[in-house]
Amino acid sequence: MTFEELGVSAPICRAVAELGYQQPMPVQEAVIPYLLGEPIDLIALAQTGTGKTAAFGLPLLQNVERSLSSSGGATGVPRALVLCPTRELCLQIADDLTAYSKYQPTVRILPVYGGSSIEAQIRTLRRGVEVIVATPGRLIDLMERGAASLDAIETVVLDEADEMLTMGFSESLQTILSQVPRERHLLLFSATMPREISSIAASYMHEPKEIIVGTKNEGNKNIRHYYYVVSARHKYLALKRIADYYPDIYGIIFCRTRKETQEIADQLIRDGYNADALHGELSQAQRDYVMQKFRIRNLQLLVATDVAARGLDVNDLTHVIHYGLPDDIESYTHRSGRTARAGKLGISIAICHSRERGRLRDIERISHATIERKQLPSGSEICQKQLFHLADRIERVELTDDTTLDTVLPDLVRKLDWIDREELVRRLMLLEHRRLLDYYESEEVIEEADDKGRLPSEPKEGKKRDKRNAVAEEGMKRLFINFGKLDRMFPNKLIELINKCVPGRVKIGKIDLLPRFSFFEVEEADAQEVIRSMSSYEVDGRRIAVDYADALGSEGSGRKERRPKRSAGGFDSERKPHRKGGARSGEGAFDKYKDKDRTKRSRSRR
Ligand code: AMP
Repeated sequence: MTFEELGVSAPICRAVAELGYQQPMPVQEAVIPYLLGEPIDLIALAQTGTGKTAAFGLPLLQNVERSLSSSGGATGVPRALVLCPTRELCLQIADDLTAYSKYQPTVRILPVYGGSSIEAQIRTLRRGVEVIVATPGRLIDLMERGAASLDAIETVVLDEADEMLTMGFSESLQTILSQVPRERHLLLFSATMPREISSIAASYMHEPKEIIVGTKNEGNKNIRHYYYVVSARHKYLALKRIADYYPDIYGIIFCRTRKETQEIADQLIRDGYNADALHGELSQAQRDYVMQKFRIRNLQLLVATDVAARGLDVNDLTHVIHYGLPDDIESYTHRSGRTARAGKLGISIAICHSRERGRLRDIERISHATIERKQLPSGSEICQKQLFHLADRIERVELTDDTTLDTVLPDLVRKLDWIDREELVRRLMLLEHRRLLDYYESEEVIEEADDKGRLPSEPKEGKKRDKRNAVAEEGMKRLFINFGKLDRMFPNKLIELINKCVPGRVKIGKIDLLPRFSFFEVEEADAQEVIRSMSSYEVDGRRIAVDYADALGSEGSGRKERRPKRSAGGFDSERKPHRKGGARSGEGAFDKYKDKDRTKRSRSRR
């Protein structure tokens, strides 16, 4: 199948051919013919990196041009609108559309996003544009100032719709959608299908066509998923081993908090890796600088929070590393989807604690990914990898003229003349090998989980704390709640919920999350109020039920996980290798081990 055969016009085919697109990708084959026909609404479930920008972009541009020529050249009025969650994605989509419309001189594209001069955007809109690519907040601002009119819009695309909802743009989307004409294509692209998307579809779409590229919520088949289980205090050492084992790594290390992100990046930098941090506490200028360094591969390891990494338009990542698992499964899918783009292979690695094994299984089940358990590479395995990397670098080195070297080279050759070739390679490699082995031999032994996933320091099966029958600490009351991990109830969400129901004064103790229900402790004096207030709340349309855990009798501690039957509480009522200087520069791990003092220094700091 070619783009011509899909009905794409000659000027656009020419532009995409110049970009090196030889044939349509699956999402393009599936989507383009629908969008070139009669206006319809469409929901496409496609992961990032599958070619979805061109899937909606090419027909969008072609339709805009057709509409311009049929309305007798009335240009300057926006005909198409693309909404996306972040300014980076906004710029990337606008860039792509500009490239695809290279031979369509009448089509002008404007990215509008927060954080840049609104006056400049207003001026450009007054001069006239045909396509607006926008983040929702800024577009509403422009609409309120009367600068952006949506009266002639024929196509609206919601790109990364799930991300927009996660980022709290639901209301803004509704405001915008209520102001575009009813007879238009509404296209919704999303990597996952949370419930809120169905409700947008129900309110604003008319019999939408649903296209799924791959299976719903299924990760990219080109991603290999691995996980390592280590004790919490060895997570950082494990991270370094993984980075050392992949000398050509170009990846993002996802952390859960800004603080952790900065700490890990600082440690990596101190240990000689080519790394930097990206999180919300940096200024926009600092974030732009880091992203640009990463984009042009002057940075090999980017340590980032999920939020800050959103919209970072970097393809070709070799690895995504989860430094701890994210709270929700969709984040795992999004993070992992940043590698293995455009048909390439990629590796997603989770460094977990043994307590996270259950969540890993949930992720596997829901995302349909097989996450393979791996043992950390040993020092000698890493050494072998690094030596081959050195050999690769030797093969790839550019033989430029260098006067200093040229002057001394004949003498050096003469000096080593007595050593034959094999021995010369042996001596050279041995130099590096010793340094690496010394480094690993002096490194602390990393405590890894056994085949059953148990850490040496962890209590054996049977001695584990029984979450269901645990007794509250003194002064605290243990309460039951009818939401569990499968309902996406995690500690921070539960704490948030308790604080929302009983604002600002409840001291929360131990939290035990089980798949379908959970327990948490609050101070005795607050328990009754917490039960009363929380039991009138709903989460995701389901009523919360909270009661004293000891009121459950044996029900809550049954061997099968059932939702306990209760009436009093109302349960029944509802059921470096990476030195600075560039990822491509070929600088390897070896330099890092040269300065043993520095390594020791940094080790002693940990
Ligand atoms: P997207 O999902 O739109 O971000 O696209 C992912 C990557 O695939 C981008 O680098 C696109 O330039 C590239 N791409 C999109 N369509 C094609 C195609 N038909 N052939 C080759 N590369 C493509």
